[in-house]
Amino acid sequence: MSNAYDAIVIGAGMSGLAAAIRLAMFDRRVVVLERHDVWGGLNSFYQFRGHQFDVGLHAMTNWAPRGAKGLPLSRLLKQLRIRHEELDLHPQGYSAVSFPGARLRFSNDFELLRSEVARAFPAQADGFDALTRAVRGFNELDLEAPQQDARPVVRRFITDPLLQDMLFCPLMFYGSAREHDMDWDQFVVMFKSIFLEGFARPAAGVRHILKLLIRRLREAGAELRLRTGVSRLLVEDGAARGVVLDNGETLMAGAVLSSAGLVETQQLAGGASLLPGQQPQAGRLSFTESISVLDCPARNLGIEETIVFYSDRLPFAYEQPRDDVDVSSGVICMPGNFDLPEPPRDHLVRITNMADHGRWAALGHGPEYSAAKQRWYAKSCAAAVPHIADFRPHVTLVDTFTPRTIRRFTGHAGGAVYGSPRKLRTGRTGIDNLYLIGTDQGFLGIVGAALSGISMANRWVLQGSGE
Ligand SMILES: Cc1cc2nc3c(=O)[nH]c(=O)nc-3n(C[C@H](O)[C@H](O)[C@H](O)COP(=O)(O)OP(=O)(O)OC[C@H]3O[C@@H](n4cnc5c(N)ncnc54)[C@H](O)[C@@H]3O)c2cc1C
Repeated sequence: MSNAYDAIVIGAGMSGLAAAIRLAMFDRRVVVLERHDVWGGLNSFYQFRGHQFDVGLHAMTNWAPRGAKGLPLSRLLKQLRIRHEELDLHPQGYSAVSFPGARLRFSNDFELLRSEVARAFPAQADGFDALTRAVRGFNELDLEAPQQDARPVVRRFITDPLLQDMLFCPLMFYGSAREHDMDWDQFVVMFKSIFLEGFARPAAGVRHILKLLIRRLREAGAELRLRTGVSRLLVEDGAARGVVLDNGETLMAGAVLSSAGLVETQQLAGGASLLPGQQPQAGRLSFTESISVLDCPARNLGIEETIVFYSDRLPFAYEQPRDDVDVSSGVICMPGNFDLPEPPRDHLVRITNMADHGRWAALGHGPEYSAAKQRWYAKSCAAAVPHIADFRPHVTLVDTFTPRTIRRFTGHAGGAVYGSPRKLRTGRTGIDNLYLIGTDQGFLGIVGAALSGISMANRWVLQGSGE
């Protein structure tokens, strides 16, 4: 049977778009299939009462200055042939981790965090330097490296539990599918991308990045089909041969790259485990996020930070909440506090908290759901204001999304933003020609997910062809 396509990519999120661009650049016939009517996946955009909002974007991690070599962002740009200036990136001012009794500032200059640790935790300064050397020396791109837990490794260098938690908090909030601990390689990825490299943002938000990717995709000649869900994979003799769409149409291909997630792709494959001998679970971590529009810049209220990661609870608990939402910790982002060339159109405060998908799903679609959103918005703001100036009197409009929204728009089981706790680092599944890309391959965020798509396309589809 001849293949209509060399590769089918499931999902037009960051990983799917990047994988398809890379394949099409080398003249592979490739189609991206996206169930929704817009691209971007978890990092998309929408319009709400005349305002343009990003779905997920707080910050692009992995900041790299123009001309830097060997960093993830530089690799991404090189592989997709995008010039640094095309991204229109503007670095953060500074951010903070705010815990009871301690506050650490950090920026895209790692020395700030180093000096803050030495100021607030003088007895830990040498340990922090040693931890940083261990992180720098670890090759997170070795996909075959054995898994180990991060907390015991970090404890070898940092003996103060408060500082341990303050380091884990941003890394977990921005990328851990696991509760309570992270895999060490994931800790390294996140430490590098947040503390050693840092945050930046295009002035126009995620739309700008997506516009660039879609343009590259079209230039390279890949096909993109929106409103085109994949209902199942065609598997014959242990190999993926193509997909069946929601409308019953069949598409054949030499390879299928799926960004739908490990558990979700397994369901598409008829339920047989993609990890022979193991039954991966859906992730338990989901989030609520509120977007408050202010009548003035956050800086006018004395809020200088770009992002604040906070916890009021010690020890910091990164776990599925026992209530609808856990406001005892969270992330507060002021997108207007990046070093932007001109003031943004909207002055925003975004707050993210951990939330339980099951509880939100049980609320139904009526007034109960709206009332719960309002109630938790009020609680979330009340918990945030000890960590930043009180912005509440200046709020003119609010939009909130919940785990249910994430489930609905990305198909991720349980609204699990960071996917399954079990990652498939090689991308290779128990079914031939079927590969995982994106979050459940283990690289996430905008840069990580895009690099995941690129590296899996290179390794499993282009490999051996000299490209
Ligand atoms: C609230 C929130 C805040 C975030 N903040 C940031 C941030 O500030 N900075 C950052 O870098 N990252 C952030 N992220 C994370 C980032 O968005 C993700 O890590 C990244 O976008 C994941 O990309 P992906 O390609 O792996 O998967 P996804 O974005 O999940 O893309 C998968 C796509 O596949 C589609 N799909 C699934 N199943 C099917 C099917 N059967 N048929 C067809 N299509 C299907 C989905 O509709 C989706 O579009 C945030 C995420 C959220 C939710």
